[in-house]
Amino acid sequence: MTAFDLTGKVALVTGGNGGIGLGMAKGLATAGATVMIAGRDAEKNGRAVEALGGSAAAIAVDLAEESGAKTAVNATVQKFGRMDILVNNAGINIRKSPQEFSLEEWYSVLNINLTSLFLCCQAAYPHLRIRGGKIINIGSMMSIFGASFAAPYGASKGAVVQLTKSLAVAWAVDNIQVNAVLPGWIDTELTKGAREQVSGLHEKVLARTPAGRWGAPEDMAGITMFLASPASDFVTGTAIPVDGGYSAQG
Ligand code: NDP
Repeated sequence: MTAFDLTGKVALVTGGNGGIGLGMAKGLATAGATVMIAGRDAEKNGRAVEALGGSAAAIAVDLAEESGAKTAVNATVQKFGRMDILVNNAGINIRKSPQEFSLEEWYSVLNINLTSLFLCCQAAYPHLRIRGGKIINIGSMMSIFGASFAAPYGASKGAVVQLTKSLAVAWAVDNIQVNAVLPGWIDTELTKGAREQVSGLHEKVLARTPAGRWGAPEDMAGITMFLASPASDFVTGTAIPVDGGYSAQG
């Protein structure tokens, strides 16, 4: 299984201390990568490092701050001497009708979901280009579909897909592959909030997902191993749904 082997590779996973990010981090660790997690909550970071075992480490950082991306990337390179893989997973949502959003709320969602992702890519670029590298950006079903309660979130996630394409085109010459993953509905802290706030959501998701269930964070491990490994060296600029068939359902 050499094509999927990540032994000796170093990965930074933003928001890797829980939910989808931890599911992806586990996939990377299973394939042999050393993982650095970046999240704000030091306790959650510590628990995730324990769950990952091996040489995993974490940095407590707020990626909403302009310096956050550089702090996370520099900590990774200082600790492990290199960086090969960047998973841009940190994200938030604020749920309300479009007309109710304040400008501050709009920017707070765009800032973490889109701007910090771009800044992480910029900060990682000089390190990834040394040996070639992989960037995996997390979009959403709302990169494709609209939701009445998620205008800034949908705008940010749609933009993630277009940004992914631009970076893929620009950095192919550096042997850096940039792809997006579009998770379906995955059972995490984020969607626990959605289920509480959006009535009937749980049942609607079940009814529309051909697989007949919500996804688990572990469902994101396989695609991450693939997109982080040499097996995907000719795959770039794509947006791949991992959704139990949700986006295939008419
Ligand atoms: P969680 O709320 O479980 O995880 C979000 C992660 O982002 C946490 O690790 C959190 O860590 C981190 N994070 C949030 N804000 C910041 C910040 N300012 N600085 C650093 N880290 C931050 O959500 P999910 O696992 O569900 O979501 C992960 C990603 O997947 C998001 O981008 C989300 O939009 C996307 N997604 C989720 C879907 C789902 O169904 N769950 C579906 C489609 C996409 P901490 O709190 O410690 O900072």
